[in-house]
Amino acid sequence: MLLLMFNIKDFDLAARIGILKTKSYKIETPAFFPVVDPLKQDVSVKEIEEIGFNQIITNAYLSYKRFGEKVIDEGIHKVLGFDKVIMTDSGAYQVLKYGNIDVNQETVMNFEKAIGSDIAVILDKPTGDTDYDKAEKSVEETLKNAHEAINLKDDKTIWVLPIQGGKYLDLVERSAKESSKLPFEMFAIGSPTVFLEKYQYNVIIDMIAMAKKYLPPEKPVHLFGGGHPLIFPYAIALGIDSFDSASYELYAKDDRYITDYGTEKIEDLEYFPCNCPVCSRYTPKDLIQMDVKERRRLLAIHNLYAIKKSMDRTKQAIREGRLWELLVEISRYRPEMQSTLRSITKYLKYMDRFNPRYKSYSRGLKFYGIENSWNPRIINYKTWILTKYEIKDNKTILLKPYNCKKEDNEEFHVIYYVPYLLLIPYEICGLYPTAQFHFSNPIPKEVENELVNMIRVFIIKNKSKKIDVIANKNISYSYAVGKEAERLGLTVSWV
Ligand SMILES: [Zn+2]
Repeated sequence: MLLLMFNIKDFDLAARIGILKTKSYKIETPAFFPVVDPLKQDVSVKEIEEIGFNQIITNAYLSYKRFGEKVIDEGIHKVLGFDKVIMTDSGAYQVLKYGNIDVNQETVMNFEKAIGSDIAVILDKPTGDTDYDKAEKSVEETLKNAHEAINLKDDKTIWVLPIQGGKYLDLVERSAKESSKLPFEMFAIGSPTVFLEKYQYNVIIDMIAMAKKYLPPEKPVHLFGGGHPLIFPYAIALGIDSFDSASYELYAKDDRYITDYGTEKIEDLEYFPCNCPVCSRYTPKDLIQMDVKERRRLLAIHNLYAIKKSMDRTKQAIREGRLWELLVEISRYRPEMQSTLRSITKYLKYMDRFNPRYKSYSRGLKFYGIENSWNPRIINYKTWILTKYEIKDNKTILLKPYNCKKEDNEEFHVIYYVPYLLLIPYEICGLYPTAQFHFSNPIPKEVENELVNMIRVFIIKNKSKKIDVIANKNISYSYAVGKEAERLGLTVSWV
């Protein structure tokens, strides 16, 4: 087993930024591995590297088919002209597709070792979108291969064990539970592309959450086939560290252009919503008039830039502790994404387990609607206020609208009320996450209701103490709080 090959540097939700050290090169995760098909590649490996990808994935079997013995003699890095991280999948799928090829696990793994893969997938049986019995078989066969593979592994390569089961979560559970006991350096989750194609990410979210529940948290986990900016932040938020896809080329072959919010047919665009070198230089019309091969190459290059941008944006959100805000923002890009956001709220507790309580590099939180308050960090804060926070002095409690001032009042114990964060005692004012936040005004009705409910619970909980309230008639949430306080028999000073 390779020691310290995966070093986690930062967390937000269950997302992490890590360094994955392979025998050739170190890469930062979350990372996207463009699929390189040596038989039919429109964009060169050199171009992929220039766009900023330090890692690619290729199919072990196809490399053999394309380069023969040469790839064993010279190694995959030299043959492909890429000296950074190369991941190989076993080629099981192609083996099935071309049929009649006598290949077993030993042959595949020895080949992956011989060509010098940095990260190698064992011979697995992908589940895909199939019936239960076939899915169960794919789980059993992959586990059987995994047990065999333990003795065939070397200690220089990062060996990847795929979790199977597809949309059948009990099978994913069984696969992940069993796999977690085996000495593999990395795990992967097979994602049925049919759900990805239709933006039905709910199934993928459930699969990832189920697998991650059992997989060892210190090991990297890859998602097969995730190739769109819309899925990256969600999968990353649940703890996925790497992705691979040929989407950039497949979309390009179909004249499709990746955007943050979906994919567009090139003929539907009059302007490019991007400044990558392709989009800065050409208009959609220029591309349409071009030779097909060149158009596809340029579209594939743009698509890679779009993927890179999304990965970088997600990483920056992790650094700033704002990944939840990014998920909320993306949920507004397409109607289907609303249900993706709702799906991920099933796993708030899981994500909060990894969420750092304090981040040195954090920025003020921004609130646009009720979804922002589902942020596990905010839920955690509100739970703390409700269940753990106690007022130890005997001063009168003064509930007043938030005004960003830390006031140590002789007479009163000041507690600010504010939408989203709800209550901020003066003594923790200025500490994360109450330090700096912004919300748009007027606030949505449901956010106002949440605040009023919190005020009611707080007043009832502290009924043995004297509580005064200041409320502002001109601010709707403050007016609602004042009215609720009056209803509960408190004296309110209206301003
Ligand atoms: Zn572009």
